Amino acid sequence: MKKVTVFPGSFDPFTKGHECIVEKTLRLFDEVIIAIGQNASKNYLFSIESRQKHIKSLFKDEKRVSVEVFNGLTVEFCKSRNTNIIVRGLRDSKDFGYERSIAQMNYEISGIDSVFFMTVPEYTAINSTIVREIYKSGGDIDLFVTNPEKLVK
Ligand code: ADP
Repeated sequence: MKKVTVFPGSFDPFTKGHECIVEKTLRLFDEVIIAIGQNASKNYLFSIESRQKHIKSLFKDEKRVSVEVFNGLTVEFCKSRNTNIIVRGLRDSKDFGYERSIAQMNYEISGIDSVFFMTVPEYTAINSTIVREIYKSGGDIDLFVTNPEKLVK
């Protein structure tokens, strides 16, 4: 049976740090579904269509990666795709503290477990919030995002 996992996130935008987590995930799993969560209470900079198009462009030659949009609980999305593993990325101990709570609560409510990959040191500082600020101020985000020209607000 194929090992399929879900990598959920806002990906506003999808950075080189996220890309690194997908590459690491492909070494352990047969397929990865990158799942862009739509949370009604969050304000996003880049449109959902634009984020999906951008991420698809990055993995157009990798058949084992698909990109979907979902609403609601991540664990419900996982069940609908017949997988019981969530992948998340870690940069530092702050991420760990936050991710641990989410992972434990997801496990409590569904039995769905999480696995974590550490980002490579050169991408530890990459943070979507800061990338958005640079973009909004007209700065160059090439260093942090592959193919940024695919992104539109
Ligand atoms: P969310 O809103 O769900 O936290 P994000 O798009 O901010 O979504 O992040 C998705 C996942 O990617 C999270 O597990 C986050 O810790 C991880 N992540 C964010 N930036 C990086 C990075 N530079 N390197 C590795 N993982 C990262």
